[in-house]
Amino acid sequence: MNPDLTQLVHQVTELFEDLDLSSVRQWKQAQPDRFAIGFMPIYVPREIIHAAGMLPVGVMGGGDRLEIIRGDAYFQSYICHIPRSTIELALTNRLDVLDGMLFPSICDVIRNLSGMWQMLFPDRYVRYMDVPQNFDPEVGGAFWRRELEALCQDLQSLGGTTIEDDALQHSIAIYNENRRAIRELYEARSDQPWIYPTSEIYLLLRAGNVLPPEDHTRLIRQYLDLAPLEEDRREQDMSRVVLVGMFCEQPPLGLLLTLERAGCWIVDDDLLLGQRWFGGDIPENGDPLDNLVNAYLGEGARTASVYQPEGRRGGWLVNSVKTNTAEGVIFCAPSFCDPALLEQPMLVAALEENGIPHTQFKYSENTGQFAVIREQAGTFSDSIRLWSEA
Ligand code: SF4
Repeated sequence: MNPDLTQLVHQVTELFEDLDLSSVRQWKQAQPDRFAIGFMPIYVPREIIHAAGMLPVGVMGGGDRLEIIRGDAYFQSYICHIPRSTIELALTNRLDVLDGMLFPSICDVIRNLSGMWQMLFPDRYVRYMDVPQNFDPEVGGAFWRRELEALCQDLQSLGGTTIEDDALQHSIAIYNENRRAIRELYEARSDQPWIYPTSEIYLLLRAGNVLPPEDHTRLIRQYLDLAPLEEDRREQDMSRVVLVGMFCEQPPLGLLLTLERAGCWIVDDDLLLGQRWFGGDIPENGDPLDNLVNAYLGEGARTASVYQPEGRRGGWLVNSVKTNTAEGVIFCAPSFCDPALLEQPMLVAALEENGIPHTQFKYSENTGQFAVIREQAGTFSDSIRLWSEA
C-alpha cells in the first residue's frame, strides 16, 4: 500500500481504537477554555455546538474493545449493547473529557440512558434532544426551533460564548462541506467499491466522531485522492449489496471485513447516519436556526426512528438499491434493537414488491464470532449472482 494511504488508514484506525478519546483531550489542552460535547446516535445539530466554539464528539459505545464490568448491572439482559458499554465508558472515566452529553430521542433505551446520566453525573450538562416526529412547519417545525434555541441557550451558559448568527452560518457551511465530501466518498464507493472498501470508509467516518469537521473533511479528500492510486485494487466478481439496520449501535469492524471477504461489495449503508443526515446543502444565508429546522423537516434521512406515514416505509431503500445498482439487501441490525427490527418487515415487504433479494442477521457491537455470518453472506452473495445471471 502507498505509504501515505498506509499512514492515513493507520491514523483513522488509531482514532477508532482509542476509547480514552485522547485526540479530544489534546484538542482541549491546546486551548484552556475549550469545551467538548458528546452526543449519542443518530442526529444532533452539530453546527450549533461548533458555532459555540465547542467540539461535537460522537459517542458510539465501546465496540468490541471494552470489557463490560459495571455496565451490565444497569440494564436488563434483553436490550441492545450500546447503553451498557456507554455507561461502562463513563464509569471508567473515559468520558470525563466531555463537558456535556446530548441524547437524541431515538428510542426508549436512549431516553432512559439520558435519565441515568442525570442521576449518575449530576454535575455535568445533559440534554435529551426531543427531535420532532411531526413534519408540519407550524407544529414540528415550531417545536424544533424552540428545542434548538434552548440548546443555544444551554451552550452559551456553559461556555460563556454567545452564538451569533454569522458564527452559526459559518458552521453550517463547514458541515455542508463535510457532508459534500462524504457524499463524494459514497458515490466513489458505489462506482468502484473495490477501490474504496467499506472497512476503510467506516474507519474514516468514525474519525469524524472525534475530529473537528474541518480536519475530517481534509482527511476524506486526502483518502479520495490516495485510494485510486492503489494498483492492486481490482474489480472482482462479487455481489453489490446495501447494508441496513446499523444506524445506532455500530457493528464490529470484523463484521464489515467478513462481509467483504464473503464476496459482498457494500455499495450503500446506514452506518453513522447522523454524519449524512441531509442529502443536500443547508442554506448558508438567512436565519440559520430556521435553515436548520427546515433542513430537518424536509431533507432529513429516513430511518427507523423517524415517523413516516403508512405505506411510505421502504421507498428510500428500494431507491437506494436502484440508484446504486445493488443486487440485494442485507438487514444487519443490533440484537434487541426495537426500531430496526420493528421496521424490518415493512422494508422486506417493499423489497419483495420490487423483486429485490434480501437476507438478514443480527449482531452485537462486541460480536466476536463471524463464521456463521460469513457462510450466510457468502451463500447470499453466490445466490444473487446466479439469479442475476439467469
Ligand atoms: S441500538 Fe436500537 S434499541 Fe439500542 S439504543 Fe440504538 S436504536 Fe435504541
